[in-house]
This record gives sequence, structure tokens and C-alpha cells, in this order.
Amino acid sequence: MKRKELTCIVCPNGCPLEIDFEETPSIQITQIEGHTCDKGPTWAEQELTRPMRTIASNIQVENGDFPLVSVRTDAPIPKNSIFQVMKEIQSITVKAPVSIGQALIENPAGTDCNIIATRHVNLA
Ligand code: SF4
Repeated sequence: MKRKELTCIVCPNGCPLEIDFEETPSIQITQIEGHTCDKGPTWAEQELTRPMRTIASNIQVENGDFPLVSVRTDAPIPKNSIFQVMKEIQSITVKAPVSIGQALIENPAGTDCNIIATRHVNLA
């Protein structure tokens, strides 16, 4: 049996979790302690088997009143896809105007998310 200590990041409480698991060969969790709600064990299981993250960055804007627009994923993506998604974000330029919530990239790197704008950029 193995034991891992993680801090739950689902809410600001940041509960310290102690997770006992077997690798047989896939991960089988046998016990989780330290959570104060049911979201903790669900998050811990996902973190051990298929960790997900949301990411934020910027995309270049042509003819805008700002040269960059801040963006984020609209859903968590697999942690091992972050590098490819960031490469796609860095490789494009969009034209102004850009609206908050506008999808600027759909399904980057084949993930189930969109890259959406988190601010307005008007025409220069
Ligand atoms: S276990 Fe529940 S209360 Fe604790 S940090 Fe996670 S979501 Fe928040």
C-alpha cells in the first residue's frame, strides 16, 4: 500500500488529504482521510488517476486598443495537455474587436474545452 498527502484545491478551505492506494497496475484508492466534504475524495481520485487543470494566458490582438487579450480555458483540461494547448494559444493572433466570453480557439490540442476571452478589446 502507498500513501500520498495532497491539499484539496476545490475550495479555499484547502483540506489536507491523506490517501492510501494500491497500484495493481491501475490506482485503486483504499482510504481517504482529512476531507470535510464529499468533493475531497472525488477530487483526490481524479488527481491521482487523471489530473486536470484550468489555465490562463494571453493572445495577441491585431488592430485593438490593447495588444493582448487575456484568455482562459472554459473547462479543466488534462494536465498532460497543457504544453500543447499553450503552444496553440501562443501561435495565433486575433482581430479586434474581441468580446468577453468569445471563443477564440475551439478544442485546442483535441481537448474538450474552448479558449475564451476574459476581457473586451475594442478596435483601436
Ligand atoms: S474537502 Fe471539501 S471543504 Fe475541504 S477543501 Fe476540498 S472541497 Fe473544500
